[in-house]
Amino acid sequence: MRFLPKFLIVTITVVTICIPGFLLGAHAQDATPPATHGIVVANMDRSVVPGDNFYLYANGDWIKRTVIPPDRAGVGVFTVLDDLSNKNTAALIQESAKAKAAAGSNARKIADLYNSYMNEAAIEAKGVTPLQPHLKAIAAIQNKRELALALGKSLRADVDPLNNTNFHTSNLFGLWVAPGFHDSAHYAPYLLEGGLVLPNRQYYLDQNAHMEKVRTEYQAYVSAMLKLAGFTDTDARAARIVALEKAIAEKHSSLSDDEDIHKADNVWKQADFAAKAPGLDWAEYFRGAGLAHQTSFDVWQPAGFVGESALVASTPLDTWKDWMSFHMIARYAGVLPKSFADENFDFFGKTLYGVPQQRPRWQRGVAVVNGLLGDAVGQIYARKYFPPEAKAAAQAMVANIIAAYKVRLQGLTWMAATTKAEAEAKLDSLYIGVGYPESWKNYAGYDVKSDDIFGNIQRGSLFRYHRQVARLGGDVDRKEWSMEPQTVNAVNLPLQNALNFPAAILQPPFFDAKAPAATNYGAIGSIIGHEISHTFDTEGSTFDSKGRLRNWWTPADLAHFDAATAKLAAQYDTYKPFPDLHVNGKQTLAEDIADVAGISAAYDGYRASLQGQTAPVLDGFSGDQQFFIAFGQNWGSKARPAALRSQVLQDPHAPAEYRADTVRNVNAWYKAFNVKPGQALYLTPENRVRIW
Ligand SMILES: [Zn+2]
Repeated sequence: MRFLPKFLIVTITVVTICIPGFLLGAHAQDATPPATHGIVVANMDRSVVPGDNFYLYANGDWIKRTVIPPDRAGVGVFTVLDDLSNKNTAALIQESAKAKAAAGSNARKIADLYNSYMNEAAIEAKGVTPLQPHLKAIAAIQNKRELALALGKSLRADVDPLNNTNFHTSNLFGLWVAPGFHDSAHYAPYLLEGGLVLPNRQYYLDQNAHMEKVRTEYQAYVSAMLKLAGFTDTDARAARIVALEKAIAEKHSSLSDDEDIHKADNVWKQADFAAKAPGLDWAEYFRGAGLAHQTSFDVWQPAGFVGESALVASTPLDTWKDWMSFHMIARYAGVLPKSFADENFDFFGKTLYGVPQQRPRWQRGVAVVNGLLGDAVGQIYARKYFPPEAKAAAQAMVANIIAAYKVRLQGLTWMAATTKAEAEAKLDSLYIGVGYPESWKNYAGYDVKSDDIFGNIQRGSLFRYHRQVARLGGDVDRKEWSMEPQTVNAVNLPLQNALNFPAAILQPPFFDAKAPAATNYGAIGSIIGHEISHTFDTEGSTFDSKGRLRNWWTPADLAHFDAATAKLAAQYDTYKPFPDLHVNGKQTLAEDIADVAGISAAYDGYRASLQGQTAPVLDGFSGDQQFFIAFGQNWGSKARPAALRSQVLQDPHAPAEYRADTVRNVNAWYKAFNVKPGQALYLTPENRVRIW
């Protein structure tokens, strides 16, 4: 599970073009780390009573003086780091571009990929030529058997339900290759429902003014894209495509259901697909996908597979062909002539997220290179920007917080000794990656050409797919990373029982060797605690110390855990960012548990680090106050209403303000700020949720 939501910082893993990449990166001139060390007093609004609104108390003045740049959906205190990482990465890429590296080397691939993206004149000159063979192949499909083969050929490894909570693919289905639920020593295939271009089912089904406007403009966008690609009768085609996607959406499950591991644990033999989900010619589909010899799959959402397969049979062939053509055009819009890219931004940027202006092309180019050659860039990035001292300091902090976690675990009065023993075994066997991975992905098989961005992206996603498929049945590398060093984020990998803390998040303002312990523990410490805690959230707690799906809880312990987590979900249900939309506490539960447990463990780690001494008072704030303010300052952010709405609907993380409010569950916060009954955030001691 990732630490940060997608809409502010997009971790782009595969084909970046369909995903609105404008969310990543913005103003290079802002990319300077803060000059102060420790909490930033100038960001606070001290006229606010901390017990009434801790988020504004910690961030109010920053919020008042910050304007969302025109090319962003939102901006946060942490996006400063994202800008810095982008700028550094761009510099590395440009150095590679100048170096005239040998053909076939990583440096040459980085340079060629970036230059091919930046060469707008070449893209204009080619026009729609790169699309033509693909559209012709779709037009030549004669029957549903050939359709099944073509749909199979489009399968990509573009979803990741557990590590990066990415459930979206516009292809009919998506593949995730990961350790098996019941045999975590070997890689297994997980199949996920797909087929939608809009972010999720609610965009097709919700009845409210915002969504109706999105849908009207979406249909116009579909028509416009088809017209640009040379189709006739595009309004009628668009209406049929959107109607098909709406029918698919009706079969999709909700995000909170998707996050329920027990609902995802369904092994289907390949031979059973035809009987279990009739409609699609499955043998042809798997042949097209190069998976004809794979005997079984985990099907994450069986109802979605039944529904989508039936739609393949019941919907006319021509509608499916139009759907495929449009998806093809939309997926590559960012590397087609400007008329396509502009139309794409008008809809995805302006309508969907309320962003008025597209971010500069070089930033989008960096995102493309990170998406397709992430480790090649990461290897240079880590060497240049992550010195051994930073690694050692971060590792020491992780060790302290794990030690604090163990003490908390031992002190739990409600938990049986057997459950505690397995929880402790999970902590003991956790693999913690700090800064960068121990080995790097090999890009030898990825052919990058200096004048063919369309082909580079197509070959890149296929290269990734083949690499993943080739690993099926093979031994799991628990130390493999799921994020790049240059990514400002952190992640827990439950099936590997592993954590990744990329180099780019281990720097100021989160982690600052010159800052007092109080602020480092409050800021990066609570992030480290958050990731450790995912090991024991609603998802993590279903896996044992070997990463296998196994119930290691006594019934009484599980009942206690369920009751406590239900209370936390109810707490988040009360948060209403819009009058007509509240946070879905069930959807954000795993993240909320990690936030509560994470800050608690970080606080204990902080107190332990003082070794009985009193922390120095700085700017009039005690050590404990600095700890909590630093935590609150992780969350200073501003978002455009459309983007915030989309986060509430499709992201497992609660909006930033409510993540800052996590403090109301921690007893020490009440003492530090003298929080009293009657203040808005006050909770009676029995309503404060402590899980770990
Ligand atoms: Zn998380």
